[in-house]
Amino acid sequence: MPYHWPKDTDFALWELDVLDRDCPVCGRFMHICDHRYRHFHSLEGPVELVCKLNHCPDACQGHKKTISPELEMTIALPKMAIAWDVFCWIGHRRFSRHWSIAQIQAELSDQYHIKISADSIGRYIQSYQVMLAARQEYPTTLRQQYKSVDEIILCIDGLQPEKGHETLYVVRELTQKRVWFAEPLISATAQEVRRLIARAKQWVESLDKKVGLWLSDRQDAFVTGIAAEFPDVPHRYCDNHFLRDVAKPVLEVDSHAKVTMRKKVRGLRKIEQTVLKQQGAEAPKDMTAADAQPTAGVEVPAVSSSPKTDSAEAVVLDYCAAVRGIVNDDQGGPLHPPGLRMAEALSEVRESIQRNLDEKKGGSPRSNLAAWPVVSTEVSTPCGPTTRRSEGTSRRSRKSRQPLNPEAAVVRFARRSSRN
Ligand SMILES: [Zn+2]
Repeated sequence: MPYHWPKDTDFALWELDVLDRDCPVCGRFMHICDHRYRHFHSLEGPVELVCKLNHCPDACQGHKKTISPELEMTIALPKMAIAWDVFCWIGHRRFSRHWSIAQIQAELSDQYHIKISADSIGRYIQSYQVMLAARQEYPTTLRQQYKSVDEIILCIDGLQPEKGHETLYVVRELTQKRVWFAEPLISATAQEVRRLIARAKQWVESLDKKVGLWLSDRQDAFVTGIAAEFPDVPHRYCDNHFLRDVAKPVLEVDSHAKVTMRKKVRGLRKIEQTVLKQQGAEAPKDMTAADAQPTAGVEVPAVSSSPKTDSAEAVVLDYCAAVRGIVNDDQGGPLHPPGLRMAEALSEVRESIQRNLDEKKGGSPRSNLAAWPVVSTEVSTPCGPTTRRSEGTSRRSRKSRQPLNPEAAVVRFARRSSRN
């Protein structure tokens, strides 16, 4: 459907001449025989492009053929209502920034006052994709890029761009981080996959390079296909897939360990309730679930610190707060399993309490101080907001600028109590 321009559109007028005006057949100087008027959007505003069309005045073969200005194609593609700059802008937002069509449409309208339908943007994106793929596979460019490369590493993987789509199989070369080609396969039979690997082999041969390694998730079809087409090339399990597969059992075991630990560490609210009663403060009424195992996301009534912050009760409350923070911390993936961190943090709390008890029995404060750095920095991954109180006084906070965590808080409280 032709683009509808509002009547009051203010077009910039651009004129284009044919540069080489000698008739390609007889060589005579050509005449202007007609004009072609085009209207399109550029990022600088609407443009009216006037193309002067030429033909040979003679009755030679060249007379029948109309010549268009050579530069027209470099400004806007035929039949498009946008110039190259808008076209590239759309393609870049779509493929580099992953914007949706609606977002592109809104931004074009807001920023550049360019109003185009979603359908048209969809078509422009398709054309952009085709051009990009063609350029990506252009043999001359490719050879140029691999000129100084001795050995290449290839990888194949299937991915689903969106749920319900057929799987897109992508062959990439890793030394130059370049997607070689991609093809959607409705059924990834061994035969189909092998066809893709054979295509990669053609590319390798045309580049005349040695393949050092193949990487994949070692699906059967990949294993057989690569073995058949590249018999002497090693084929390794991609470390990303490897980690992902290993992560599942690790996290399962870790989560089980967390449940066990939470079962052991109970009764926090009961302790807090007792302390608050002793302090004469009113304890929250809903204490029936006091012994329930603390779980992540459970709303915990805030326990306000009493004015006597350095009293033994306040220290107990702080310990409770720290422990609650530890058992509710679910952050961290397979590389920093939360259960492992919970175990480390809880044993630090236990050691800290033990140090306090030892001190009460008359242990040497000096030896206790020497033990403070036991707080490991490995457990310092952010675990939610912790109130900073006496920041700067602890050795730890001077060492690292990471947010203070409950364990660090425990150490500070423990030390403070040791001064009493
Ligand atoms: Zn002619």
